[in-house]
Amino acid sequence: MGGILEALHQLQVIETQLAAIRRQREAKQKRVDMRKRQVQAAEDRRETNRRAVQERQVRQDAYSLDVATREEAVSKQREALGKAKTNKAYAEILTVMNTTKADNSKLESEILKLMEEIQTLEAEGAAIDAEKVEFVAAVEVSEGQLKEVEEKRRAEREELEASRAKCAEQIPPTALSIFTRVAQHHDGEAMAPVIKLHPKRHEYACTGCNLQITLEVVSTLKKNNELQLCSSCGRVLYIENGAAG
Ligand SMILES: [Zn+2]
Repeated sequence: MGGILEALHQLQVIETQLAAIRRQREAKQKRVDMRKRQVQAAEDRRETNRRAVQERQVRQDAYSLDVATREEAVSKQREALGKAKTNKAYAEILTVMNTTKADNSKLESEILKLMEEIQTLEAEGAAIDAEKVEFVAAVEVSEGQLKEVEEKRRAEREELEASRAKCAEQIPPTALSIFTRVAQHHDGEAMAPVIKLHPKRHEYACTGCNLQITLEVVSTLKKNNELQLCSSCGRVLYIENGAAG
């Protein structure tokens, strides 16, 4: 290995370290995002809960109003009862009054049921609020961990980025752009060594994807300084010093 491949390999060593830092940061970021989703889910549940309470309160108010109206009717019917002139009129008024009373007691038990439901829903709402407080605290903790990782590794990252820039200066633009593209595609892993599959046979493979590599590609790699890309994964192939003989 020499020339461009050697320089690219140096770049790969730096890139691998940068990718490790990036992955560490991404893992922490994922945790932050997951915690934030938990907060959002709690807020959504709370909103549904609030609407359920509201809907029952509206019904409860309407029923209460109905009860009041019917109670008024009952007292008028009671008055009329006192003034009834015949047994028949008395019996008729009594029937109407009893029906109204029966309707009212049905409504009152509906109201009681609604009150119980509201109580249960409110307790659920309070539990959701308590959960949300915990989730919010967890977001803060995970954000703190993310910041800590970023700060702890900032100097290292900046140093590596400077070395990468310096190293990149030694590489022709075309080779560099191929490297950068493949690195982006494979999470920082732009290069793959070629290995000999069997000590006695001339069979080679790309360690990036295990695809068998033709003898022609291997001999080109050994002879000159041309870039050879794996036809399957696209990684820049190289032969490690002393390997693949
Ligand atoms: Zn490959």
